[in-house]
Amino acid sequence: MPAHEVLVVGAGLLGLSAAHFLAKKGLRVAVLEREAPLACTSDKSTECYRVFWPGDEALAALMAHSLELLPPFRPTARPNRRGYLYLGEEAALALLAEKAPHAGPLRVHRQGASYPQGAEEGLDLLRPGALGEAFPYLAHLRGVVGLHVRPAGWLSAQGLGMGLLEAFRTLGGSLLHGEFLGLEQEGGRPRYARVRQGQRETLFPFQALVLAPGPGLPALARALGLDLPLQAEPHFKAWFPDPLGRFPREAPLLIWNAPQEVFTPEEKALLQEEPALTPLLGPLPPGAHGRPEGEGFLALYNPFPKAEAPRACTPLPPPWAGEVALRGLFPLLPGLRAYLGARPRVDGGYYVRTPENRPLLGPVAEGVYLLGAFSGYGVMAALGAGELLARWVTGEELPAYAQALAPGRYQDPTYRPSLEAAQAQL
Ligand SMILES: Cc1cc2nc3c(=O)[nH]c(=O)nc-3n(C[C@H](O)[C@H](O)[C@H](O)COP(=O)(O)OP(=O)(O)OC[C@H]3O[C@@H](n4cnc5c(N)ncnc54)[C@H](O)[C@@H]3O)c2cc1C
Repeated sequence: MPAHEVLVVGAGLLGLSAAHFLAKKGLRVAVLEREAPLACTSDKSTECYRVFWPGDEALAALMAHSLELLPPFRPTARPNRRGYLYLGEEAALALLAEKAPHAGPLRVHRQGASYPQGAEEGLDLLRPGALGEAFPYLAHLRGVVGLHVRPAGWLSAQGLGMGLLEAFRTLGGSLLHGEFLGLEQEGGRPRYARVRQGQRETLFPFQALVLAPGPGLPALARALGLDLPLQAEPHFKAWFPDPLGRFPREAPLLIWNAPQEVFTPEEKALLQEEPALTPLLGPLPPGAHGRPEGEGFLALYNPFPKAEAPRACTPLPPPWAGEVALRGLFPLLPGLRAYLGARPRVDGGYYVRTPENRPLLGPVAEGVYLLGAFSGYGVMAALGAGELLARWVTGEELPAYAQALAPGRYQDPTYRPSLEAAQAQL
């Protein structure tokens, strides 16, 4: 009998969550991490969560389950329930709401008076007059409608991760420093993980192996001969200090759900000579978003993410990343123009994703499981995904949505990925 029954590769939020739920089931679990735990993509997120997945009931069920599992981690994860506020055209927002019955009842408001300030469930569609009354700092928006999604907010990803790590250790789990290199077979099935620890290479026997390597997944899948449609897109966020108080401290996550141009005609004329900026000079797709954070605010806008092969945890941001993210918020909060020229703190990571934006969660060979491709939602999905992975390993009953997330879906010749959830990239 090996010293550990399960080896989990990767101590990001996904790996730690799986390790925790496996240890909770009484299995002897080790997590193998080549860097520090929680220092890769899980350290770079916007930390938001939502149970609002228009057109994808499987992802909605996964997120709802994650929220159900959150209470023991509340003290360190400190979730709020401020919601997401989408801003744009009424028809587009009404359609989003219609495709998300899981998010609860839709309440439509013509006046701010009927808007339930502290509601924690459902959706509020705020027609133009109501929007400015409910959110006075948005009163300048003419003809714009708001959709306030309530089962949503943000939390501390580091706090959640540290809570998982502590609970895992309390259950007797161990964290090992080393790098997973590959698999060795015995008796016709994968039986050993080849692991480098310092200068030494060893064979680590396992009964189950969980691969949760974050941005390492595309290369690892290729090395293991797995034919999976995966890509890694760099995404960036910028933190700006807000000494002038231009981003309301009490705001929900604000999302501009309409196309926009971020440069004026005069600015475009000046920038035309810069080939790297050409794609930014035309109309840009919806999706600029931001929220208050500490004494400042976070701004995100990645209009044309271009897939690349990750060489490290963190991609190099283009020089314009912070400014474009800031400009993306101008339609919502014009006062932010005061920060043009400010130097934000910019960082980011990879959205590893499949074409339909669903994760890869389940077996790929006897005793080998993938837990990856969590795109821009791995923080909010971590608890539900780790618990589901533990069910796959122990052979317990699976929820109805498990097959929709399993890598085996691509073996089914009748499987037609729905691209609807792929639009929702936040
Ligand atoms: C800018 C940005 C904003 C985001 N915003 C949100 C958000 O608001 N809400 C949300 O839910 N999600 C968000 N995300 C997505 C979320 O951060 C990720 O989906 C999640 O952190 C992925 O976690 P992970 O455990 O899979 O990967 P990681 O955190 O990257 O962990 C993988 C670990 O595996 C280790 N590893 C890799 N290969 C090996 C190997 N061979 N041997 C040993 N160790 C290995 C790595 O060192 C790393 O520590 C955002 C992401 C970005 C980039």
